Amino acid sequence: MRILLVEDEPDVAQMLAKGLREQSYAVDVASDGESVLYQARLNNYDLIILDIMLPLKDGFTVCRELRAAELSVAILMLTARDDVHDRITGLDAGADDYLIKPFDFHELLARVRALLRRGHMLLPEILEIADLKIDTRSHEVSRAASRIELTAKEYALLEYLARRVNQVVSRSDIAEHVWDENFDPFSNLIEVYIQRLRRKIDDGHEPKLIRTLRGEGYRLAAISGDTNV
Ligand code: CA
Repeated sequence: MRILLVEDEPDVAQMLAKGLREQSYAVDVASDGESVLYQARLNNYDLIILDIMLPLKDGFTVCRELRAAELSVAILMLTARDDVHDRITGLDAGADDYLIKPFDFHELLARVRALLRRGHMLLPEILEIADLKIDTRSHEVSRAASRIELTAKEYALLEYLARRVNQVVSRSDIAEHVWDENFDPFSNLIEVYIQRLRRKIDDGHEPKLIRTLRGEGYRLAAISGDTNV
């Protein structure tokens, strides 16, 4: 899942981005309100974390612009004071939720998870595909009841495929939602990660869950009938 973090205080931005990346999110950072609309149009973000007090353009204005441009991305606002008017203005501007600074990082993570869950459709916290089990809160993954250790990036890729279970997920979708703006579209990183996931998820198990559809993308599914390349 890919997040745009809009925060002008460098220390806060750095700390939040680091913490979110450790939780396997792909994170881009913007330090003022001016570039957000452009970036949000360019990249298909799953969530925008938007500070209210920003240089050039405040968070309320940015939020209204995003909604006026009919971008349905989830927006979590960060407000510096516990002011009811700020919260009302934020929600009226189109924010989905807000958090008052200073906040506990774990609360931020819980709100992020909640917003991402209701993104396209309400997803359960535990995703099950055949005997594969993915706990989206603890990031624990198991197959046939035995625990599978994944790196943050492997987990992010698996969860993204699992959110679209039975659907073909294109390479560009994966690049956009699992990697951040530093992703090199000419690299073979996605293929490398798919291979690693296959080794960990499918080796020694039936049915094979990760399928490659040549020229189309990848599919995580328990159903058979497609050629596994
Ligand atoms: Ca600020």
